[in-house]
Amino acid sequence: MTYQPADHPEHLSPDTVVVAAGRPAREHDAPVNPPIVLSSTYVGTGTVVDGDRAYGRYSNPTWDPLEDALAQLEEATLPALIFSSGLAAVSAALSLIPNGGVLVMPIHSYQGALVMAQEMAAKGSFTLRTVDIANNDDVIAALTGSGEKAASMLWLESPTNPMLEVADMQVLCRSAAAVGALVVTDNTFSTPLVQQPLALGSDIVLHSVTKYLAGHSDVIMGALATSSAEVRAQLLHHRSIHGAIAGPFEAWLALRGLRTLALRVERSQASALELASRLDMHDGVEKVLFPGLPSDPGHLRAKAQMSGFGSILCIEVAGGEEAAHALVEALRLWTPATSLGGVESLIERRRRHANEPTSVPANLLRLSVGIENVEDLWADLAQALALVSVAPDSQTESSSGL
Ligand code: PLP
Repeated sequence: MTYQPADHPEHLSPDTVVVAAGRPAREHDAPVNPPIVLSSTYVGTGTVVDGDRAYGRYSNPTWDPLEDALAQLEEATLPALIFSSGLAAVSAALSLIPNGGVLVMPIHSYQGALVMAQEMAAKGSFTLRTVDIANNDDVIAALTGSGEKAASMLWLESPTNPMLEVADMQVLCRSAAAVGALVVTDNTFSTPLVQQPLALGSDIVLHSVTKYLAGHSDVIMGALATSSAEVRAQLLHHRSIHGAIAGPFEAWLALRGLRTLALRVERSQASALELASRLDMHDGVEKVLFPGLPSDPGHLRAKAQMSGFGSILCIEVAGGEEAAHALVEALRLWTPATSLGGVESLIERRRRHANEPTSVPANLLRLSVGIENVEDLWADLAQALALVSVAPDSQTESSSGL
Protein backbone atom coordinates (compact mmCIF):
# COMPACT_ATOMS: atom_id res chain seq x y z
CA MET A 1 0.00 0.00 0.00
CA THR A 2 1.52 3.31 -1.09
CA TYR A 3 0.88 6.69 0.44
CA GLN A 4 0.15 9.23 -2.33
CA PRO A 5 -0.01 12.73 -0.87
CA ALA A 6 -2.64 15.15 -2.13
CA ASP A 7 -1.34 17.62 -4.70
CA HIS A 8 -1.20 21.04 -2.99
CA PRO A 9 0.14 24.40 -4.14
CA GLU A 10 3.81 24.89 -3.28
CA HIS A 11 5.04 27.33 -0.60
CA LEU A 12 2.18 27.04 1.85
CA SER A 13 2.61 28.83 5.18
CA PRO A 14 3.55 26.55 8.08
CA ASP A 15 0.18 27.16 9.77
CA THR A 16 -1.47 25.82 6.60
CA VAL A 17 1.01 22.95 6.29
CA VAL A 18 -0.05 21.56 9.69
CA VAL A 19 -3.59 21.28 8.35
CA ALA A 20 -2.96 20.33 4.71
CA ALA A 21 0.10 18.04 4.81
CA GLY A 22 -0.22 14.28 5.03
CA ARG A 23 -3.66 14.05 3.41
CA PRO A 24 -4.40 11.22 0.97
CA ALA A 25 -4.65 11.99 -2.75
CA ARG A 26 -8.05 13.35 -3.75
CA GLU A 27 -9.80 10.51 -5.47
CA HIS A 28 -13.52 10.02 -5.56
CA ASP A 29 -14.65 8.61 -2.19
CA ALA A 30 -11.12 8.67 -0.79
CA PRO A 31 -11.03 9.38 2.97
CA VAL A 32 -10.05 12.92 4.01
CA ASN A 33 -7.75 11.51 6.70
CA PRO A 34 -5.18 8.78 6.15
CA PRO A 35 -6.38 5.44 7.54
CA ILE A 36 -4.68 3.44 10.30
CA VAL A 37 -3.07 0.30 8.91
CA LEU A 38 -2.80 -2.48 11.46
CA SER A 39 -0.57 -5.11 9.91
CA SER A 40 2.69 -6.56 11.15
CA THR A 41 3.64 -7.84 7.71
CA TYR A 42 2.94 -7.29 4.00
CA VAL A 43 2.33 -9.58 1.08
CA GLY A 44 5.64 -10.23 -0.67
CA THR A 45 6.44 -11.70 -4.03
CA GLY A 46 9.84 -12.68 -5.44
CA THR A 47 12.82 -11.04 -3.71
CA VAL A 48 12.65 -8.13 -1.25
CA VAL A 49 13.95 -4.96 -2.86
CA ASP A 50 14.66 -1.49 -1.43
CA GLY A 51 11.42 0.37 -0.82
CA ASP A 52 9.32 -2.76 -0.25
CA ARG A 53 7.32 -2.58 2.95
CA ALA A 54 8.21 -6.22 3.73
CA TYR A 55 7.63 -6.15 7.51
CA GLY A 56 5.98 -3.88 10.08
CA ARG A 57 9.23 -3.01 11.84
CA TYR A 58 10.59 -1.47 8.63
CA SER A 59 7.59 0.59 7.57
CA ASN A 60 3.89 1.22 8.03
CA PRO A 61 1.62 3.26 5.73
CA THR A 62 0.26 5.10 8.82
CA TRP A 63 3.73 6.55 9.50
CA ASP A 64 4.14 8.04 6.03
CA PRO A 65 1.74 11.02 6.15
CA LEU A 66 3.07 12.10 9.56
CA GLU A 67 6.69 11.76 8.41
CA ASP A 68 5.83 13.75 5.30
CA ALA A 69 4.13 16.51 7.33
CA LEU A 70 7.03 16.76 9.82
CA ALA A 71 9.57 17.01 6.98
CA GLN A 72 7.56 19.79 5.34
CA LEU A 73 7.38 21.69 8.63
CA GLU A 74 11.11 21.41 9.28
CA GLU A 75 11.84 22.08 5.60
CA ALA A 76 13.73 18.79 5.28
CA THR A 77 14.03 17.46 1.75
CA LEU A 78 13.51 13.85 2.89
CA PRO A 79 10.68 12.30 4.92
CA ALA A 80 11.21 12.48 8.68
CA LEU A 81 11.52 9.29 10.74
CA ILE A 82 9.22 8.68 13.68
CA PHE A 83 10.27 6.62 16.71
CA SER A 84 8.57 5.03 19.71
CA SER A 85 9.60 7.98 21.94
CA GLY A 86 11.66 11.13 21.92
CA LEU A 87 14.34 9.25 23.80
CA ALA A 88 14.39 6.51 21.15
CA ALA A 89 15.09 9.28 18.63
CA VAL A 90 17.88 10.57 20.92
CA SER A 91 19.34 7.06 21.01
CA ALA A 92 19.31 6.80 17.20
CA ALA A 93 20.94 10.23 16.85
CA LEU A 94 23.69 9.40 19.38
CA SER A 95 24.41 6.18 17.45
CA LEU A 96 25.88 8.39 14.69
CA ILE A 97 28.88 9.26 16.90
CA PRO A 98 31.80 7.04 15.87
CA ASN A 99 33.40 4.88 18.57
CA GLY A 100 35.92 6.98 20.44
CA GLY A 101 34.40 10.22 19.11
CA VAL A 102 33.49 13.33 21.09
CA LEU A 103 30.02 14.67 21.91
CA VAL A 104 29.53 18.28 23.00
CA MET A 105 26.26 18.71 24.86
CA PRO A 106 24.56 21.44 26.94
CA ILE A 107 24.77 20.73 30.67
CA HIS A 108 21.09 21.66 30.85
CA SER A 109 19.93 19.37 28.06
CA TYR A 110 16.77 17.40 28.69
CA GLN A 111 17.94 15.16 31.54
CA GLY A 112 17.02 11.87 29.80
CA ALA A 113 19.28 12.73 26.86
CA LEU A 114 22.04 13.83 29.23
CA VAL A 115 21.82 10.63 31.30
CA MET A 116 21.92 8.51 28.13
CA ALA A 117 25.02 10.37 26.91
CA GLN A 118 26.67 10.09 30.35
CA GLU A 119 26.01 6.35 30.48
CA MET A 120 27.33 5.79 26.95
CA ALA A 121 30.41 7.86 27.75
CA ALA A 122 30.97 5.87 30.97
CA LYS A 123 30.97 2.66 28.88
CA GLY A 124 33.63 4.15 26.60
CA SER A 125 31.47 4.71 23.50
CA PHE A 126 32.59 8.36 23.22
CA THR A 127 33.91 11.29 25.25
CA LEU A 128 31.28 13.69 26.59
CA ARG A 129 32.05 17.39 27.00
CA THR A 130 29.22 19.29 28.72
CA VAL A 131 29.01 23.04 28.13
CA ASP A 132 27.10 26.19 28.95
CA ILE A 133 25.32 26.38 25.60
CA ALA A 134 24.72 30.12 25.93
CA ASN A 135 28.48 30.75 26.13
CA ASN A 136 29.96 30.68 22.59
CA ASP A 137 33.58 30.60 23.80
CA ASP A 138 32.86 27.62 26.04
CA VAL A 139 31.13 25.69 23.24
CA ILE A 140 33.73 26.52 20.56
CA ALA A 141 36.58 25.46 22.88
CA ALA A 142 34.80 22.14 23.48
CA LEU A 143 34.24 21.70 19.72
CA THR A 144 37.84 22.30 18.72
CA GLY A 145 39.14 20.37 21.73
CA SER A 146 41.83 22.97 22.55
CA GLY A 147 44.64 20.51 21.73
CA GLU A 148 42.54 17.38 22.40
CA LYS A 149 40.37 15.57 19.85
CA ALA A 150 37.82 17.74 18.01
CA ALA A 151 34.11 17.01 18.38
CA SER A 152 32.18 14.52 16.23
CA MET A 153 28.77 15.81 17.27
CA LEU A 154 27.30 19.00 18.72
CA TRP A 155 24.00 18.60 20.55
CA LEU A 156 21.89 21.73 20.63
CA GLU A 157 18.84 22.39 22.67
CA SER A 158 17.62 25.96 22.52
CA PRO A 159 15.97 27.09 24.69
CA THR A 160 17.29 24.44 27.09
CA ASN A 161 15.15 22.29 29.34
CA PRO A 162 14.65 23.60 31.99
CA MET A 163 17.00 26.61 32.28
CA LEU A 164 15.77 28.19 29.01
CA GLU A 165 19.23 29.28 27.93
CA VAL A 166 19.40 30.32 24.29
CA ALA A 167 22.21 29.06 22.02
CA ASP A 168 23.69 31.21 19.25
CA MET A 169 22.58 28.62 16.71
CA GLN A 170 24.08 29.91 13.47
CA VAL A 171 27.49 30.66 14.98
CA LEU A 172 27.64 27.29 16.75
CA CYS A 173 26.49 25.35 13.68
CA ARG A 174 29.22 27.03 11.61
CA SER A 175 31.83 26.25 14.28
CA ALA A 176 30.71 22.61 14.39
CA ALA A 177 30.89 22.33 10.59
CA ALA A 178 34.41 23.77 10.67
CA VAL A 179 35.60 20.81 12.78
CA GLY A 180 33.49 18.28 10.85
CA ALA A 181 30.97 17.71 13.66
CA LEU A 182 27.33 16.80 12.94
CA VAL A 183 24.79 19.06 14.65
CA VAL A 184 21.63 17.63 16.21
CA THR A 185 19.08 20.14 17.52
CA ASP A 186 16.34 19.15 19.91
CA ASN A 187 13.55 21.46 18.74
CA THR A 188 10.89 20.11 21.09
CA PHE A 189 10.39 23.34 23.06
CA SER A 190 10.12 25.62 20.04
CA THR A 191 8.27 23.46 17.50
CA PRO A 192 8.98 23.97 13.78
CA LEU A 193 6.53 26.86 13.78
CA VAL A 194 8.79 28.94 16.03
CA GLN A 195 12.30 27.80 15.10
CA GLN A 196 13.77 25.98 12.11
CA PRO A 197 17.11 24.43 13.05
CA LEU A 198 17.88 23.01 9.58
CA ALA A 199 17.68 26.50 8.11
CA LEU A 200 19.97 27.74 10.92
CA GLY A 201 22.65 25.16 9.99
CA SER A 202 21.77 22.04 11.99
CA ASP A 203 22.13 18.67 10.21
CA ILE A 204 19.40 16.88 12.13
CA VAL A 205 16.37 18.09 14.04
CA LEU A 206 14.87 16.05 16.85
CA HIS A 207 11.43 16.17 18.45
CA SER A 208 9.74 14.61 21.36
CA VAL A 209 6.46 14.41 19.39
CA THR A 210 4.94 13.56 22.77
CA LYS A 211 4.90 17.31 23.55
CA TYR A 212 3.58 20.08 21.28
CA LEU A 213 3.35 18.19 18.00
CA ALA A 214 0.90 15.59 19.31
CA GLY A 215 -0.25 18.15 21.85
CA HIS A 216 -2.81 16.33 24.00
CA SER A 217 -0.70 14.39 26.52
CA ASP A 218 -1.93 11.07 25.16
CA VAL A 219 0.94 9.92 22.92
CA ILE A 220 4.62 9.06 23.46
CA MET A 221 6.61 9.46 20.25
CA GLY A 222 9.81 10.91 18.82
CA ALA A 223 10.99 12.09 15.41
CA LEU A 224 14.15 12.99 13.51
CA ALA A 225 14.37 15.00 10.30
CA THR A 226 17.35 15.63 8.04
CA SER A 227 18.05 16.54 4.43
CA SER A 228 21.10 14.27 4.23
CA ALA A 229 20.34 10.97 2.47
CA GLU A 230 23.39 9.35 4.06
CA VAL A 231 22.44 10.38 7.60
CA ARG A 232 18.80 9.42 7.07
CA ALA A 233 19.80 5.96 5.82
CA GLN A 234 21.86 5.39 8.99
CA LEU A 235 19.01 6.55 11.22
CA LEU A 236 16.49 4.38 9.38
CA HIS A 237 18.80 1.38 9.71
CA HIS A 238 19.11 2.05 13.45
CA ARG A 239 15.32 2.22 13.82
CA SER A 240 14.76 -0.99 11.84
CA ILE A 241 17.45 -2.97 13.66
CA HIS A 242 16.97 -1.64 17.21
CA GLY A 243 13.21 -1.75 16.79
CA ALA A 244 12.09 1.47 18.51
CA ILE A 245 9.16 1.99 16.14
CA ALA A 246 5.97 3.99 16.69
CA GLY A 247 2.64 2.19 16.90
CA PRO A 248 0.24 2.95 14.02
CA PHE A 249 -2.44 4.24 16.41
CA GLU A 250 0.05 6.67 18.00
CA ALA A 251 1.09 7.87 14.54
CA TRP A 252 -2.53 8.51 13.64
CA LEU A 253 -3.16 10.34 16.93
CA ALA A 254 -0.04 12.47 16.51
CA LEU A 255 -1.09 13.60 13.02
CA ARG A 256 -4.56 14.37 14.36
CA GLY A 257 -2.99 16.48 17.13
CA LEU A 258 -0.67 18.24 14.68
CA ARG A 259 -3.66 19.70 12.81
CA THR A 260 -4.21 22.29 15.57
CA LEU A 261 -0.53 23.00 16.33
CA ALA A 262 -0.58 26.55 14.96
CA LEU A 263 -3.61 27.56 17.01
CA ARG A 264 -2.27 25.92 20.15
CA VAL A 265 1.16 27.50 19.80
CA GLU A 266 -0.25 30.95 19.07
CA ARG A 267 -2.52 30.86 22.12
CA SER A 268 -0.08 29.31 24.60
CA GLN A 269 2.81 31.57 23.55
CA ALA A 270 0.71 34.70 24.07
CA SER A 271 -0.39 33.45 27.50
CA ALA A 272 3.17 32.50 28.47
CA LEU A 273 4.40 36.02 27.70
CA GLU A 274 1.57 37.56 29.70
CA LEU A 275 2.09 35.27 32.70
CA ALA A 276 5.88 35.74 32.62
CA SER A 277 5.44 39.52 32.73
CA ARG A 278 3.02 39.34 35.68
CA LEU A 279 5.13 36.81 37.59
CA ASP A 280 8.18 39.01 37.04
CA MET A 281 6.44 41.77 39.05
CA HIS A 282 5.30 39.47 41.88
CA ASP A 283 7.04 39.58 45.28
CA GLY A 284 6.60 35.85 45.75
CA VAL A 285 8.82 35.16 42.74
CA GLU A 286 12.58 35.69 42.96
CA LYS A 287 13.28 35.24 39.28
CA VAL A 288 11.50 34.47 36.01
CA LEU A 289 13.33 32.60 33.25
CA PHE A 290 11.69 33.27 29.91
CA PRO A 291 13.42 34.43 26.70
CA GLY A 292 10.39 36.56 25.86
CA LEU A 293 11.17 39.02 28.68
CA PRO A 294 13.42 41.86 27.45
CA SER A 295 15.46 41.47 30.66
CA ASP A 296 16.22 37.78 29.95
CA PRO A 297 19.86 37.09 28.91
CA GLY A 298 18.65 35.08 25.89
CA HIS A 299 16.10 37.64 24.69
CA LEU A 300 17.99 39.21 21.77
CA ARG A 301 19.26 35.88 20.46
CA ALA A 302 15.81 34.35 20.71
CA LYS A 303 14.33 37.33 18.91
CA ALA A 304 16.84 36.93 16.08
CA GLN A 305 16.43 33.20 15.49
CA MET A 306 12.90 32.38 16.65
CA SER A 307 9.56 33.73 15.46
CA GLY A 308 8.20 33.65 19.03
CA PHE A 309 9.45 32.71 22.50
CA GLY A 310 7.69 29.40 23.17
CA SER A 311 5.25 28.55 25.93
CA ILE A 312 7.57 27.26 28.66
CA LEU A 313 8.68 29.51 31.46
CA CYS A 314 10.39 28.87 34.77
CA ILE A 315 10.17 30.67 38.08
CA GLU A 316 12.36 30.59 41.14
CA VAL A 317 9.99 30.87 44.09
CA ALA A 318 10.86 33.16 47.01
CA GLY A 319 11.16 31.03 50.17
CA GLY A 320 13.16 28.20 48.60
CA GLU A 321 12.34 24.58 47.89
CA GLU A 322 9.57 24.30 50.50
CA ALA A 323 7.77 27.35 49.19
CA ALA A 324 8.06 26.02 45.64
CA HIS A 325 6.63 22.69 46.75
CA ALA A 326 3.80 24.42 48.66
CA LEU A 327 2.97 26.55 45.64
CA VAL A 328 2.53 23.48 43.44
CA GLU A 329 0.32 21.87 46.11
CA ALA A 330 -1.85 24.98 46.37
CA LEU A 331 -2.72 25.15 42.67
CA ARG A 332 -6.16 23.98 41.61
CA LEU A 333 -6.22 24.53 37.84
CA TRP A 334 -2.58 23.92 36.92
CA THR A 335 -1.83 20.20 37.00
CA PRO A 336 1.24 19.09 38.94
CA ALA A 337 2.88 16.73 36.47
CA THR A 338 6.02 16.31 34.45
CA SER A 339 6.02 16.76 30.65
CA LEU A 340 4.92 19.76 28.61
CA GLY A 341 3.36 20.89 25.38
CA GLY A 342 -0.19 19.62 25.95
CA VAL A 343 -3.39 21.65 25.85
CA GLU A 344 -3.51 21.64 29.67
CA SER A 345 -1.14 23.73 31.78
CA LEU A 346 1.37 21.70 33.78
CA ILE A 347 3.75 22.73 36.54
CA GLU A 348 6.66 20.88 38.07
CA ARG A 349 9.55 21.38 40.48
CA ARG A 350 12.31 19.94 38.33
CA ARG A 351 14.67 19.00 41.14
CA ARG A 352 12.15 16.44 42.35
CA HIS A 353 13.85 14.23 39.74
CA ALA A 354 17.02 12.71 41.20
CA ASN A 355 18.82 13.02 37.84
CA GLU A 356 18.27 16.75 37.41
CA PRO A 357 21.64 18.57 37.58
CA THR A 358 22.22 20.39 40.89
CA SER A 359 22.87 23.59 38.88
CA VAL A 360 19.07 23.71 38.42
CA PRO A 361 17.85 25.64 41.51
CA ALA A 362 15.84 23.58 44.04
CA ASN A 363 13.11 26.26 44.08
CA LEU A 364 12.73 26.29 40.29
CA LEU A 365 9.30 25.46 38.89
CA ARG A 366 8.81 24.75 35.18
CA LEU A 367 5.49 25.91 33.80
CA SER A 368 4.13 24.52 30.54
CA VAL A 369 1.45 27.00 29.57
CA GLY A 370 -1.58 25.41 27.92
CA ILE A 371 -4.51 26.88 26.04
CA GLU A 372 -6.87 27.68 28.92
CA ASN A 373 -8.05 31.26 29.46
CA VAL A 374 -5.03 33.23 30.63
CA GLU A 375 -7.00 35.02 33.39
CA ASP A 376 -7.99 31.68 34.90
CA LEU A 377 -4.37 30.55 34.78
CA TRP A 378 -3.24 33.78 36.42
CA ALA A 379 -5.95 33.70 39.11
CA ASP A 380 -4.85 30.21 40.14
CA LEU A 381 -1.17 31.21 40.29
CA ALA A 382 -2.01 34.41 42.20
CA GLN A 383 -4.12 32.62 44.84
CA ALA A 384 -1.42 29.97 45.33
CA LEU A 385 1.33 32.61 45.59
CA ALA A 386 -0.76 34.49 48.16
CA LEU A 387 -1.20 31.32 50.24
CA VAL A 388 2.50 30.50 50.09
CA SER A 389 3.54 33.98 51.14
CA VAL A 390 1.34 33.80 54.31
CA ALA A 391 2.54 30.28 55.13
CA PRO A 392 5.26 31.27 57.66
CA ASP A 393 2.70 33.03 59.94
CA SER A 394 0.26 30.14 59.86
CA GLN A 395 3.10 27.73 60.70
CA THR A 396 3.94 29.82 63.78
CA GLU A 397 0.32 29.65 64.88
CA SER A 398 0.05 25.89 64.53
CA SER A 399 3.39 25.28 66.25
CA SER A 400 2.23 27.40 69.20
CA GLY A 401 -0.63 24.96 69.69
CA LEU A 402 -3.53 27.11 68.44
N1 PLP B 1 13.61 16.29 24.49
C1 PLP B 1 13.02 17.15 25.33
C2 PLP B 1 13.35 18.60 25.24
C3 PLP B 1 12.10 16.69 26.28
O1 PLP B 1 11.53 17.57 27.12
C4 PLP B 1 11.83 15.30 26.35
C5 PLP B 1 10.88 14.75 27.35
O2 PLP B 1 10.51 15.43 28.30
C6 PLP B 1 12.47 14.44 25.46
C7 PLP B 1 13.34 14.97 24.52
C8 PLP B 1 12.21 12.95 25.50
O3 PLP B 1 11.00 12.66 24.89
P1 PLP B 1 10.04 11.42 25.25
O4 PLP B 1 9.54 11.65 26.64
O5 PLP B 1 9.01 11.47 24.20
O6 PLP B 1 10.88 10.19 25.19
